[in-house]
Amino acid sequence: MSKYDVAIIGSGPGGYVAAIRCAQLGMKTAIIEKYNVLGGTCLNVGCIPSKALLDSSHHYEDAMKHFEEHGIEIPGEIKLNFKKMIERKTSVVDQTTKGIAFLMDKNKIDVFTGMGAFKDATHIEITNGKKTETIEAKNTIIATGSKPSTLPFIKLDKDRIITSTEALSLKEIPKHLVVIGGGVIGLELGQVYHRLGSEVSVVEYMDRIIPTMDSAQSKELLKVMKKQGVKFYLSHKVSAVSKKGKEVSVTATDKNDKEITFKGDYCLVSVGRKPYTDGLKAENAGVKITERGMIDVNDHLQTNIKNIYAIGDVVRGAMLAHKASEEGVLVAEIIAGQKPHIDYNLIPGVVYTWPEVASVGKTEEQLKEAKVEYKIGQFPMRALGRSRASGDTDGFVKILSDKKTDEVLGVHMVGARVADLIAEAVVAMEYRASAEDIARMSHAHPTYAEAVKEAALAATDDRALHI
Ligand code: FAD
Ligand code: NAD
Repeated sequence: MSKYDVAIIGSGPGGYVAAIRCAQLGMKTAIIEKYNVLGGTCLNVGCIPSKALLDSSHHYEDAMKHFEEHGIEIPGEIKLNFKKMIERKTSVVDQTTKGIAFLMDKNKIDVFTGMGAFKDATHIEITNGKKTETIEAKNTIIATGSKPSTLPFIKLDKDRIITSTEALSLKEIPKHLVVIGGGVIGLELGQVYHRLGSEVSVVEYMDRIIPTMDSAQSKELLKVMKKQGVKFYLSHKVSAVSKKGKEVSVTATDKNDKEITFKGDYCLVSVGRKPYTDGLKAENAGVKITERGMIDVNDHLQTNIKNIYAIGDVVRGAMLAHKASEEGVLVAEIIAGQKPHIDYNLIPGVVYTWPEVASVGKTEEQLKEAKVEYKIGQFPMRALGRSRASGDTDGFVKILSDKKTDEVLGVHMVGARVADLIAEAVVAMEYRASAEDIARMSHAHPTYAEAVKEAALAATDDRALHI
């Protein structure tokens, strides 16, 4: 029987990063993945394919709607080859997952393909078809991720009533896509299909989209996406979903109990994801799972069984790839006897719509609830020369800083490339910068990043320069 210092179950951004860090620290490492490709949700049916389709559909929209204003004329009709767009997405995924296989090989990590299940706290049985083998591991990291959740009355047929996984590989462009849930997936994939010509109706239970982000971001993105032509039905509770032939019906009631039925050809159910532990047989190792299906962990991501850890979507916290990866590194270093730390307040959140949405730290709502006194500095993208040059004038940068100390407490952005800009805010907050610290740093001109400096100036003393 093969013996390892660490075995990792699941090869998503939590598991494969944990494996690399364990190997770097000199541990004999195995990774177990039930599918025959590595990379988990993120690389196969999440972050990477969704961004590939967002980029492709953005190019199409630019060609259809914006080239002309830049003086670019295309003689003849612009044609969309959706099959090719999906094939390109698949090839981006292939390249990326092959990259992970290369990294496993380079770091001398043993890859086992098959379903991993605990026999006891130090033995894992791996089943691939009829073949079964058992390995021994001093430590195990559970990184089994998550699966889409649904509503109790919805039968996902994965044909017309679909999750993000199917929406990333459709064979045709929906005529009318009804999206249940105005969160990250609903908005990113809703925007992809709206750009490609679908009518898109988003039905959201709360009174705002992306409800966990700062409400100013919800308002701005709603305004822009409505202007783009996406339809929104906020404060609507979905009560029934059915399919007849090629038609799907989604019934919802508003705050006044008024019923509305949407008829479409596809319904995307994007109401969140749930931790995945099916087939893991955690009970054989004595590992505790919470009522909500998560693996229960302490601050060191250790389960109730001392040599078994868990990371990523299968434990509490934001379901984000970079959060999973940070946790993978943390656990590897803990096993190696180091004392690493993650500041969960500084894990940024991004929505890759256009304009993009990005956040780090506390929202205004959270500061109010915690009764923290704060200042706001906000700067609109439209006041930047860079935004006017590219034509991306929607959005803003909003900085929240402590009223007394000026320490930056939260940064919230909507605009072009803010997914990348948010890194500046993370660095600043990691070093506990004040708004004035940011305001006094030189930002290259003309860049979108100047909005960060201007918002910091506005927060410092209401002294933004260009507004
Ligand atoms: P996963 O990536 O889910 O990987 C778990 C792996 O474990 C899977 O490969 C699974 O097959 C395997 N597994 C499970 N059980 C077993 C078992 N018993 N034996 C063997 N293998 C097993 N996050 C971002 O940060 N940015 C984004 O842009 C982003 N976009 C997304 C878009 C979509 C459409 C979706 C669905 C998600 C997106 N996410 C994004 C979220 C991100 O994908 C997850 O947070 C991330 O993948 C979690 O990583 P993980 O390692 O915990 O789990
Ligand atoms: P989400 O939690 O972002 O959004 C779900 C939305 O559905 C919420 O707005 C919620 O209010 C709404 N909702 C819940 N029940 C409803 C009901 N009965 N009727 C109508 N609306 C309802 O979840 P998601 O969009 O499914 O994404 C799942 C996870 O994947 C998220 O946690 C996210 O972190 C991750 N993800 C991240 C990215 C990214 O980082 N860019 C992209 C995609 C997915």
